Amino acid sequence: MRSLLAASLLTAALCGAAASAQTAPITLAVDLTDAARKILHSTETIPVQPGPFTLVYPKWIPGEHAPDGPIDNQAGFIITTPSGERVKWERDSVNMFAYHLTVPAGVTELHIKMDFLATAAPSGFSAGASTSANLALLSWNELLVYPPVQNIADIMVSPSIKIPPDWKFGTALDSSGSDKMGVTSFKTASLEQLVDSPVLAGRWFREILLAPEITPKHYLDLAGDGPEDILLSQEHIDNFSKLIRETGALYQSRHYGSYHFLVTLSDQVAHFGLEHHQSSDDRVPHSTFTDDNAFIAEGLLLPHEFTHSWNGKYRRPAGLATGNYQDPMQGNLLWVYEGLTEYLGDVLAARCGIWNNSIYRDRLATIVGYLNDVRPGRTWRDLQDTATDAQILYFVGGAYDNWRRDTDYYDEGELLWLELDSTIRAKTNGKKSLNDFAAAFEGLGGNTAPKVVPYNFDDIVAGLNAVVPNDWATFLHTRLGSNELHAPEVPGINALSGYKLTYTDKPNYWSQLEESESGGLNARWSLGLSAGSGGTIGDVIMDSVAWKSGLAPGFQIVAVNGRAFTPGLLRQAIKDAVKGPAIELIVENTGYYKTIRLDYHGGEKYPQLERVANTPDRLDDILQPMTK
Ligand SMILES: [Zn+2]
Repeated sequence: MRSLLAASLLTAALCGAAASAQTAPITLAVDLTDAARKILHSTETIPVQPGPFTLVYPKWIPGEHAPDGPIDNQAGFIITTPSGERVKWERDSVNMFAYHLTVPAGVTELHIKMDFLATAAPSGFSAGASTSANLALLSWNELLVYPPVQNIADIMVSPSIKIPPDWKFGTALDSSGSDKMGVTSFKTASLEQLVDSPVLAGRWFREILLAPEITPKHYLDLAGDGPEDILLSQEHIDNFSKLIRETGALYQSRHYGSYHFLVTLSDQVAHFGLEHHQSSDDRVPHSTFTDDNAFIAEGLLLPHEFTHSWNGKYRRPAGLATGNYQDPMQGNLLWVYEGLTEYLGDVLAARCGIWNNSIYRDRLATIVGYLNDVRPGRTWRDLQDTATDAQILYFVGGAYDNWRRDTDYYDEGELLWLELDSTIRAKTNGKKSLNDFAAAFEGLGGNTAPKVVPYNFDDIVAGLNAVVPNDWATFLHTRLGSNELHAPEVPGINALSGYKLTYTDKPNYWSQLEESESGGLNARWSLGLSAGSGGTIGDVIMDSVAWKSGLAPGFQIVAVNGRAFTPGLLRQAIKDAVKGPAIELIVENTGYYKTIRLDYHGGEKYPQLERVANTPDRLDDILQPMTK
């Protein structure tokens, strides 16, 4: 079962040119032996018929919710006939991801060579930096073209990879054998499965079987910058095994044949996670599994991406369940796709012991503090619009973020689902919870092979009503459409979870972690600004003291009270100003210097969650593991 949405006019037109061209699988051979030089090679053979023909490059990448297929790093795209005759292509003048050509008479297959320049800066998503001297993450969509079709599940591909001789690899694809030249072939798969199954390869590589008693099987595949990076402790392996068991209890189902966490432990690659049905592409700093603070800081990533195998890949908003990487995606339900995943992923991180409950609460306090008190952009952009506009908002961030907002459906979505969970628990005296919704909604149909079961807003409401009847539609619409200055979920969390948001002059563990990662100072709740380690102002909260005093993002703080800037000096100045004069900064803006007075005497302020006396501690209930 899968969604076949109405095709765009352009795709429909292109499909006409490619009607039933394919008679045999495409073959795709990718060569990773130059990965250290940041160039990947592919050779593709596509069955064709003579006449006008069109090929397309993947544009809308699943999980990235945006038309960000990395066509800008394509090079050496040359098409020939089997006899070596060059076939000239011409790019579509409107769709940059389509190429038109004419297949010569008598020709039944085309040979296509393509390089991918893996030269991106270490930022971004799957097209961000993916290689180093000793490892490579292959996203197949970067190195292939295909005939435009309604449904890429209809295109079959026989893939293979060649890796350096001393490297190993992990992937959810089934291998069909290796030769002496270092080429590994995989069983023929649909184009959809192929793009959904990246390959992690590296010199320092390790594969660990998790929760061995459970079938289907789960593997932790690790590639690191050095041999020391993949030496995680047995305690951490046990955390991930517990994650496997907890998801079985929560979702009551699995929708894959086996599952591979493909974890790149490297400072040379982009850092992010991308979900797939049977694997996840998890790229983190090199010391993530061997440094305790880093393990906690990145602790949400694997539970989040794993949860997507149910919530996002199997159950998917109809607007995101497009069939061919060319039709536009609609992100209006991303507050479910990402928001619910953020909520359940964080809960699972605590249930499997990656975090203890105190760390979970500290992180939650920070999120609540951000959204409730330093996010004035909500007065013009509601939560729903952050989801609808996702394809733009993934690529912004930083300066004036508090006023623009960005992909807030992650963090505010988490608060929304926490309030939902707390509401269900309160209405049923703890007999029902969001666990029941997750089991029914994500586990629909029991264990299945990877497939997509789409849903819409009404399905969410019906699923919630099946757990406990309520006017959930109004509940959701009110929160999704709010233009209140403060987050509409926070009063609900306070009243139902047993905790309230307060402020203190001491950063909690999570706030400390954030500050130590950035090396700067987060004074958003006091002065109304954040500053990097060198004094560059990252953001200034609209209508804060910093804003009213004339500061802006990008200004460089040169001196604090007459002394050269350090984050520690500014922190001390905030403390001293409680009983002292205003803070005086010298700032530089585009080559001009200025003295700024911050007439603020409220001391440091950091959010924390405080227990409300004589109320049930629902957070403790929520974080209770479901398995022994
Ligand atoms: Zn996600």
